Amino acid sequence: MSERFFVESPIQGHRASLFGAEAHHLLHVMRVQIGQEVTLVDGSGAEFKATLENVERNQADLIIHHRSQVDRELPFHLTLGVALPKGQRQRWLVEKLVELGVNTLVPLNTERAVAIAETKTLQRLQRTVIEATKQCSRTRLMEITSATNVHDFFVTTPTDSRRWIAHPGGTQSSVLLEACETSSAGYLAIGPEGGFTDQEVTVATQAGWKMVHLGPRILRTETAAIVLSSLFSCTAV
Ligand code: SAM
Repeated sequence: MSERFFVESPIQGHRASLFGAEAHHLLHVMRVQIGQEVTLVDGSGAEFKATLENVERNQADLIIHHRSQVDRELPFHLTLGVALPKGQRQRWLVEKLVELGVNTLVPLNTERAVAIAETKTLQRLQRTVIEATKQCSRTRLMEITSATNVHDFFVTTPTDSRRWIAHPGGTQSSVLLEACETSSAGYLAIGPEGGFTDQEVTVATQAGWKMVHLGPRILRTETAAIVLSSLFSCTAV
């Protein structure tokens, strides 16, 4: 498989250009030469075979010669709401969620949150989304929404979707069977290091969310997010 690069704007026609970090990666890290073929993605669900045609300072111009629609997505929309952990663990979390096929990440503002999802943080994580997308060969980007109040998240999700809130001591019931269904969208919620408050859990369960436990050990926020997401993603291979 040829090296993959991300084009910021939707590719139309037979030409595309890379700028900034992507141009740097192509020209100075991978040292792609004029005439060499690479793969481009633009987040639209397509892959493009392209040849490097022209190089300018921090810009690479390519000619597209083949476009194919490629589907490596889950057969349903998967949204994960999570109270973001701190520092490097955010980046790790985002990278793994992209690999697992999560479509939308909603940073949750919870009462015991340890990290504030500021615009600057979310912009930095967007770069991680792009890197992980290229690495795992997805052709669509995981969306990271702006930070959302956890109560709003619980009460606005569609009632005909599968909605699970991870909480130590929750009941497990038939959730594993539910994860195997592929017909309806999935919504998952993971709390902060200090956990969801009783009130947050009550809002979720009253709105119809199922409270699930993930075993007798307490997992870090990012571990719990990966475990729950992978239940969905593994059953959809
Ligand atoms: N002391 C906190 C509590 O009791 O809720 C622990 C919080 S844990 C570090 C962070 C989040 O990961 C939790 O809010 C929950 O969403 C999820 N989590 C961690 N371990 C879990 C488990 N064994 N079962 C269900 N959820 C878990």
